Amino acid sequence: MTVTVGVLALQGDVREHVHALTVEGAHAVPVRRVRELDAVDALVIPGGESTTIDKLLRAFDLFAPVQERLRAGMPAYGSCAGMILLADRVLGGIEGQQTLGGVDVTVRRNAFGRQVDSFETDLAVEGVEDGPLHAVFIRAPWVEEVGPAARVVGRVESGPAAGRIVAVRQGPLLVTSFHPEVTGDTRVHRLFVEIVRESQG
Ligand code: GLN
Repeated sequence: MTVTVGVLALQGDVREHVHALTVEGAHAVPVRRVRELDAVDALVIPGGESTTIDKLLRAFDLFAPVQERLRAGMPAYGSCAGMILLADRVLGGIEGQQTLGGVDVTVRRNAFGRQVDSFETDLAVEGVEDGPLHAVFIRAPWVEEVGPAARVVGRVESGPAAGRIVAVRQGPLLVTSFHPEVTGDTRVHRLFVEIVRESQG
């Protein structure tokens, strides 16, 4: 079954996500308008600056429509700033910053601090097969609290941030603090495409 997966195209690595999704057998399309959102089965929200994406979602009249689709069960994958946007609660946000929500977690923006502001490490994600992933973190959030509805599927495994939660799943929603689209390893996108296929029955 071919699923159509949109990539929110307001900011971030849109081309890279479209490419990875295509490698994994999805029909991948950029989404910038409601009409385009209406045509997709699922949505990827790339990294960037969550405060900017929040503002652009409103400017493009997409905030409420995306939120409605999420509430109706649309699968979504958020990377980095995308994770922040899919989180129910955010710490370290700017005044008035809102999230779309959906995942019962509290995330902290720019959480890793100066020492490990941007870093790379190998870690395992539940549902991703054939060994650890190379995870690239760029001014990333971490997950500080996980509510009962959400499930931790990945943590930093070594170094100063060892133990920090960086991947969470809640039903058809998947979020990671890191950027899988920059490594050429498409296994996180494979997992997401599987989630989308399952949601289609
Ligand atoms: N620091 C950004 C934010 O708070 C996220 C960075 C990223 O997406 N690479 O929105």
